[in-house]
Amino acid sequence: MRITRALRLGIGFLALAAVASGCTSGSSGTATQNAAGGKLTIGIKFDQPGLGLEMKNGTFSGFDVDVATYVAGKLGVKPSNITFREAPSAERETLIQNGAVDMVVASYSITDQRKKKVDFAGPYYIAGQSLLVRADNNSVTGPQSLGGKKLCTVKGSTSAQDIQQDFAHDVNLQEYDTYSLCVEALKNNMVDAVTTDNIILAGYVAQNPGQLKLVGTPFTTERYGIGLRRGDKESRDKVNDAVQAMLDDNGPTGWRAALQKNFGPAFPVPTVPQIDRY
Ligand code: GLU
Repeated sequence: MRITRALRLGIGFLALAAVASGCTSGSSGTATQNAAGGKLTIGIKFDQPGLGLEMKNGTFSGFDVDVATYVAGKLGVKPSNITFREAPSAERETLIQNGAVDMVVASYSITDQRKKKVDFAGPYYIAGQSLLVRADNNSVTGPQSLGGKKLCTVKGSTSAQDIQQDFAHDVNLQEYDTYSLCVEALKNNMVDAVTTDNIILAGYVAQNPGQLKLVGTPFTTERYGIGLRRGDKESRDKVNDAVQAMLDDNGPTGWRAALQKNFGPAFPVPTVPQIDRY
């Protein structure tokens, strides 16, 4: 009787500890090991049209999703064996560090600060921070014109950090959890502008025809990498090889085709990024 109770308590404690550490479906293997076992869990955005978007039928679409699927394929994992998990900006490092995901492909800029916690393959795309306003707004023209304005961005993003460091002045900065919440606030007149990478903002313009517009020229360089467990060089090398293959691939699932599929045939395909095998 006593033993059973102690056991039950013990199991309850372990379950609680697992929840408290945020370790839910996390596996202990490396990305390479898990791929060899036939499965990968990949962190993406669920609310960024063109990049990572959860569809009504439960499938996912976007350039990041296509990059993730291509890389997984090169590691031997079929699309049906990929589990996509939402990776909001502020949670990306933690999800990688605690093993909840094998990798993150989520408009994730490679930075020295983040490299203290995770490693990056890539870059597979180069974006730049920009500004989104309502179509009828003519007072916001660039980062210098934000004085006294309400500006929305996302916690844990480089967009929040850069605007605070370089352009904070007298901007009224509002930090939300996701960009789609910022866009809702913009449409409801609760903020004057949204700032993040141009490619993310372009997706919201396309989703809200005639209502929103991008202004000014990009004022940062955001090199999108694939986040991986720090120190797992084997996986980083393999993912870099896979990204290189996608960049070189002129077929229907290659890099150019994936960009045009997600951003339209008129999308100006940028210069091909150079992989940084640091
Ligand atoms: N690329 C920037 C970053 O990694 C902004 C986009 C995002 O938050 O996903 O923080």
